Amino acid sequence: MADIIQLLPDHVANQIAAGEVVQRPSSVVKELLENAIDAGSSTIKLIIKDAGKTLIQVVDDGCGMSVTDARLSFERHATSKITSADDLFNIETKGFRGEALASIAAIAHVELKSKTEQAETGTHIKIEGSEVVSQEVTVTPKGTSIQVKNLFYNIPARRKFLKSNPVETRHIIDEFHRVALAHPNVRFSMFHNGSEVFQLPQSNNRQRIVNIFGSKTNEKLVPVDETTEVVAITGFVGKPEFAKRTRGEQFFFVNDRFIKSAYLNHAVASAFEGLLKEGSHASYFLYLQVDPKSIDINIHPTKTEIKFDDEHTLYAILRSAIKHSLGQFNIAPVLDFEHNANLDTPYRKMQMNALAPVVEVDKDFNPFSSGNPENKNLRFRSQKQESGEWESLYVGLQTSNDQGVTIDKDSIETDPEHISMFQDATQESSAATYQLHRKYVISKIRSGMLVIDQHRAHHRIIYEDILKQITVKEGVSQQLLFPLNLSYSTDEIKILQELKEQLEHTGFVFSKIEDENIEITGVPIIASEKQISNILEQLIHDVENEVPESNFSQTDMLAKSLSRSLCIKSGQSLNTLEQEHLVNSLFACKEPSVTPFNQKTFITMTTDELDKKFM
Ligand code: ADP
Ligand code: MG
Repeated sequence: MADIIQLLPDHVANQIAAGEVVQRPSSVVKELLENAIDAGSSTIKLIIKDAGKTLIQVVDDGCGMSVTDARLSFERHATSKITSADDLFNIETKGFRGEALASIAAIAHVELKSKTEQAETGTHIKIEGSEVVSQEVTVTPKGTSIQVKNLFYNIPARRKFLKSNPVETRHIIDEFHRVALAHPNVRFSMFHNGSEVFQLPQSNNRQRIVNIFGSKTNEKLVPVDETTEVVAITGFVGKPEFAKRTRGEQFFFVNDRFIKSAYLNHAVASAFEGLLKEGSHASYFLYLQVDPKSIDINIHPTKTEIKFDDEHTLYAILRSAIKHSLGQFNIAPVLDFEHNANLDTPYRKMQMNALAPVVEVDKDFNPFSSGNPENKNLRFRSQKQESGEWESLYVGLQTSNDQGVTIDKDSIETDPEHISMFQDATQESSAATYQLHRKYVISKIRSGMLVIDQHRAHHRIIYEDILKQITVKEGVSQQLLFPLNLSYSTDEIKILQELKEQLEHTGFVFSKIEDENIEITGVPIIASEKQISNILEQLIHDVENEVPESNFSQTDMLAKSLSRSLCIKSGQSLNTLEQEHLVNSLFACKEPSVTPFNQKTFITMTTDELDKKFM
C-alpha cells in the first residue's frame, strides 16, 4: 500500500490551532490585550466595530517589535516569552504559547504596525489567511497597533455561529473588564462603533473597580488582606446585603491573570455561609499572588484554568481571610476564625439552628381603607404579603380567563384561613383537585387524571398574561407608598432604558432613570415590592446573555424573564381554591401544554392506563 500520511500545510495547521484559541471576537480581544500588557504598555486602547465582527484593533505604547520580530510574531510557536520547557514553571507573562497571532492571522485580515523605542522607522505588515500580502517601512509611534478585520472570513461556518452583536459585545466587555481589573496601573480606553465605552485612568484596584462598575460600588466593598507564606491575598468582597441573584461580579486573579476556579469560588461562598439570602451570590474581586513555580497554567489554550500545587491550603486560607474581613468590618460575627477550617463542616447544622425569626411589618396596611374601592389593590396586596405569593394566581386569571370560573374578588379579600376552613368543611369529599408534594396539582378528568406541574403551569399563565399586557398596553400598576430607589451600573441602566416603555406596559412606573439610579413609584400588580430588585436584576442578566435584535422577540424575552421571576415555585402549598384556579387559568391559555421554554406543563393518565398497571 502506498504511504498515506502527509504533514499538514502550515496554514491548515494554523486554522486548526485557531479553532482552539479563537472561539469568538472576544478571544481575539483577550489575546491582543494580553500581548499589549506583556509588552509593558502604560496606555492601551481597544477599538471595535460591529461587536468585533468587522474590526478589532488594539493600540499600545509598549516595547514594540523590530522588523524581524514583527514578521516572526505571526509564525506558530513564535514567542519571546519562554525559551525552554523549564521556563513553563516560572511564568510571569500572559502569553507563552506563541500561537495567538499565528492563529488569528489564519482566520482574518490582519494589519500590524510596530516600532521599538530605538528604531527610527516602524514596520507595517498585512497578512490575510496566513499569507503575507505586504511588508513596508512606515512612520508610526513607539508601540504596536494590530487591526483584525473580518474575523472568520474564510470559515463561514464559524462566522455563522457568532451570536447577535449585543451578545458578542458583552463577551468583549467581559474580557476587557478582566484585563483592566488585573492591571489598574495601566490606562485603558474602549471604543465601539466610534463612541467611547470606557475611559479608565491609571489608578489603584479599588478605583479601577469603581470606575468600571459605578460609583455606588465603592460603599459595597469590604477589603480583604492576608499574607502567608503560600499566598498573598488582597482585594475586596461585596457586602452580603448587596449579593446578587446572578453570578455577575466574581473575579479571581492569580499573579494578575484572570482565572476561573469552581473550587476557590466554593471557598468564598463558604466564608459567606449564613450571611446570604438563598440563591444569591456574593461578588468578589480577589487578587492572589503566588510563587509562579507553585502553579501550572498550561492546562487550556485560553489559560483561564490553572492548577495549584496545594489547593487545599489555599482554600482554607482564602476562606478564613474572607471570614476575618467580614468579621472585622462588622459584617458577620467572627464565628470560627481561629479554628481549623476543615473542622467546621460537621457543626454546620448546629449553627443553622440559630436563625432569628423573621418579623415582617405590613407597610401597606391601613385600617381605615376597607370601604374605599380605590384601595382594593392595596388591600389585596397587603394580604398577599401575609400569605405568600399565592394571589398572583388570581391575577393571572382576571385577565386571561374569560370563559372559566369567575372569581368573586371579595372572597379573595376575606381571611385566607377562613377560605380553607370553609372549604374543608363543605368541599372535601367533592374536591376536584389535589396537591401532591407541594409540586403537582392532580385533577380528575373524564378519561382519567391530569397531573399538572404547578410551577411550570403558572409560568405559562403569567407569561401569557404579561405578553398580553405589553401588547395591549393594559398592565395594572399599583402605586408604592414610598418610591423605591435602586442603583445599577451604567451598562445596566442602558438596558433598563431600552426596555422602559415595555416595562411600563406591564405596570412599572419609573419616575427617574439616571446615570446609576432609578426610582420606581409603581410596580405591576402581580409583583410585590420585595421582588422588584430581583426581577430587574434577573431581567438585566437575561438581556445581557441573550439579546434579541427585533422588537418582537424583545417583548417575548421580557415576558419570559418577568414570568420566570414571578411565577409560583414548587414547594408552595396551594389550597383547593388556588389549585382549581391554576387548572382553569392554565387551560384558558393559548398554549397550555408547554412553558414559554417548551417544557411540558402537564401529563394525563387515562383510566385504561391505570387499569393496565394493575394487571
Ligand atoms: P505569545 O504571547 O504566547 O508569546 P503571540 O502569538 O501572542 O504569542 O505573540 C507572539 C510574539 O509577538 C510575542 O511573544 C511578542 O514577542 C510579540 N508581540 C505580540 N504582540 C506584541 C505587542 N503588542 N507588542 C510587542 N510585541 C508583541
Ligand atoms: Mg500572546
